[in-house]
This record gives sequence, structure tokens and C-alpha cells, in this order.
Amino acid sequence: MSTPTIPVAGEDGSAASRARDAAEGAAAALEYARRRHGVFVADLLEWLRIPSVSTDPARAADCAAAARWAASRLTAWGVAAEVVEPAPGGHPLVVAARDEDPALPTVLLYGHYDVQSPEPLGDWTSVPFVPAVRGDDVFARGASDNKGQCWALLCAVHAWIASVGRLPVNLRVVVEGEEESGGRTLTDFVGTHAERLRADAAWVADASLFAPGMPALYSAVRGILYLELEAQGARADLHSGMYGGVAPNPLLAICHVLAACKPWNGAVNLPGFYERVRRPSAEELAGWAALPFDEPTFRLEQVQAEALPGEHGFTVLERLWTRPTFDVHGIVGGFVADGAKTVIPARATAKVSMRLVPDQDPDAVLHSFEDRINFLRPEGVTFTIRVLESAPPLQLPLGHPVVAAGKRALVAAFGREPVVVRSGVSLPALNLIAHRLRVPTVMTGFGLPDDRPHAPDEKFHLPNLQAGIAATIAFLRECGALPRT
Ligand SMILES: [Zn+2]
Repeated sequence: MSTPTIPVAGEDGSAASRARDAAEGAAAALEYARRRHGVFVADLLEWLRIPSVSTDPARAADCAAAARWAASRLTAWGVAAEVVEPAPGGHPLVVAARDEDPALPTVLLYGHYDVQSPEPLGDWTSVPFVPAVRGDDVFARGASDNKGQCWALLCAVHAWIASVGRLPVNLRVVVEGEEESGGRTLTDFVGTHAERLRADAAWVADASLFAPGMPALYSAVRGILYLELEAQGARADLHSGMYGGVAPNPLLAICHVLAACKPWNGAVNLPGFYERVRRPSAEELAGWAALPFDEPTFRLEQVQAEALPGEHGFTVLERLWTRPTFDVHGIVGGFVADGAKTVIPARATAKVSMRLVPDQDPDAVLHSFEDRINFLRPEGVTFTIRVLESAPPLQLPLGHPVVAAGKRALVAAFGREPVVVRSGVSLPALNLIAHRLRVPTVMTGFGLPDDRPHAPDEKFHLPNLQAGIAATIAFLRECGALPRT
């Protein structure tokens, strides 16, 4: 266990005795969680059986069932939970709270119950919504992302209440159902009920350990600007024999402008794009150089490609964590069926996204992209740009006492210091909690790098359920000793 943070004792010694109580409480909660491991696993399998795929409208009732499942567990444990009605087309939000003492700090736990679609089904060894335990792993869609990790957070709360009768902090819990589908329900709730999520610290586990037994603290995540680019040429499709050579081709126009924005292996060619990109600190770079990361293994086992193309002059980890990207996800237009049809399409559409890094601003990048497209626009073609998603990059305050508490909690659970890394993904909920609600946030994860989230044979390593519970028990205890802000 880590050294407890013992506050300065008051004249009556109450602070010191509180710290002693907290240490004993954490030990009791941990012991309770170890005894209950089998029950916790059985319950997790039950949650995994609910196919809560948020991107599939046919699964709306299953999403609601997964929300009610979490809310009923929390309520039964003494944490008052509410299932909040979703925004149109969305899925319910579970919001729960338990107040112990207004003098104690408040901790917010975040997780999500929705999962990615399980396709392609044929690539699974077992059925995605019939959880299968093989060895120490449970295989199921959502096992790692995020039900297994979220469940660790909730079980830690239960362990405290069941063994000690109370929590060492006041508690807020958010379990959302639109993390994978980009819905508005949590954003709307934060807009209208911010006071219900106000907290002194947040604990988010929606990532992974850096390597088995090696916990990670995430210092930054990338933002995202996701755009749809529509090109319009002639009013209707035309015969390429009769009009080829004079008719504008919007599909070719899209290829032309996108290739100009992102040369192969080169930097993104948008005015001012890199102006606000912050270089990682020397300390960060030194830490990453010492990580057990092998580029050839990463290429062969994870990317499974012949090469790792990208910007020159940066390591793979730098390119993944600290450099912005420009990717094309799909281009639709013209004729794509079997055989040949000599058509010049009237319109074409491309899906484009840019991952953004601190301190890039999505709005400024959007304006730069619009200017560039207008400049490059071939005659006879008009472009329309629609924003599908926009989230700024996020840097978490590593020097904050809450992060130090998170570090000690991870040491307590894993017996070693966490490595400080970044993540290339974008987490809108993290933006809401850390940026909008301004809650000092610890972002970590209990998955393994090879858990295959979003892919066939997703799994969760069950010993990491126990480690995640232990880390969360320790985090709650550590936060109980923090000064209230
Ligand atoms: Zn997730």
C-alpha cells in the first residue's frame, strides 16, 4: 500500500484519526472485494449479455435495459441512481449520488455502458453477447470498453459501503450510453444540471494499462474535427463519351483538394495548422523513450502493415500522441457497382477527420480548411462543408493534488508507479468533465493493450477487474484526505 496522505491533525486529533479510519476502511473494502470476486464477475457477465449497441437504433431497448441494470445495482447498494431520459435518438444516462458529509470532498466516477457493434460476427471465436470465460479472460463485446472497467469503479463503491457502512467521500456517478455514438444526452445534462455533477476530483477508466502490470496515467488526449465535404459539379450525371473533357468531375475534384491538403508522408498542408501545436516537454519525451515500446512489434502485431508512414522526424509514439492528423474515411460518388458505367458524377462526398493536439483550436482549423478548399477549388465545382463532430484537444493538469492522489492509488493497486503517457483518441465526456465542469480529472485504464476494443474477440483480463477495484478503493480513500476546493 502507498503511504497515506495524513492531514495535519487538529487539536482534538480528529484529522489524524480520520486518516487512520480511512486506511482501515480501505483495507476492509479491499478484503470485501477479494471475497466477492466471484459474485462481481458473475454480475459483470450478466451486464455483458445485454447487447447495448448505441449506434444501432434496433438496440435502443437493450441500451435502456443496460442503463436500468447499472442504476438498479447502484440503488440497491445505497447510491441513489436515476435513469435520465435521453435526447431525441439517444440513450438514457445513469446519474447517481451519495452524500456522506458536506465537509468531505466529492468524487465523480465516469464510465459508459454502450458498446460498439459486434460486426463482423464471423470473426468471433465465441458469440459476442454470450460472454465466454477462457482462462483469466472474459470474451464479449464491451468486456474491456467499457463495461468491465466501469464495473470495477462501481464495485469499489459497493465494497466501501458494504464493509465500512459509508464512503470516505461524497460521490457522483455518471454512466452514459452514447460514448460510441456521439449523442447529446450527457452534453445536454451538463448544460442544464451542472450542479449535480460538481466535484473536487474525477476518476475515468476508459483506456488501458501501458503493458501487463504497468498502469498508465494519461496526460492528454487528442481532439477531433470530423467533416463531410460535398462537391457538386453539373446538375445531373453525364455520359463521359459525350461530355468527357468539358464536364467538371466532382469526384476528381475531391481527390485533388484532399491530396493537396495531405501529401503522402508529409505535413498537413493547411495555413497555420501547426502554429499552436505544443511540443511535448523534455521530461515527457524522456519518459516515453524509456517505455517498453518496440516499433517493429507494434507494426507487425497491431498495425499489421508493411510500413508506418507519417510525418518525418517524429517517433511513432510522438506521431500517435503529439502530432495532429488528417485522414479520409470514405469517398462516395459516381458508379461503384460491378462492371463498367461511363458516368461523370454530378456530386461526390468525402468524410474527413483531423485529430487535433494541444493547443489547436477546432474552429480555427475549420476556417483554415474552408479557406484552403476555396483556394484549391477547380472551376465548375462547388464545395459544401458540414461539421459532424468537433472537440478540442485536452491536457490534464499533471501537477494537481488530485493527479498525485491518482498516482498513489495506482501504486497501491499495482505495486509500481504508473507511466505517464498520452492517448491519440478523443473522449468527449472527458472534455465535458475536465474542461466544461472544470473537475480535476485522473484518466487511467484497466484494459490491456491487446484487449481488441471495437474489434472481434474483445476481452477483459479478469485479474484487472480486481486491480481496478483496488485502485478505485484507494483513489476514494486518497481523495477523502484532500482539502476541499
Ligand atoms: Zn470507451
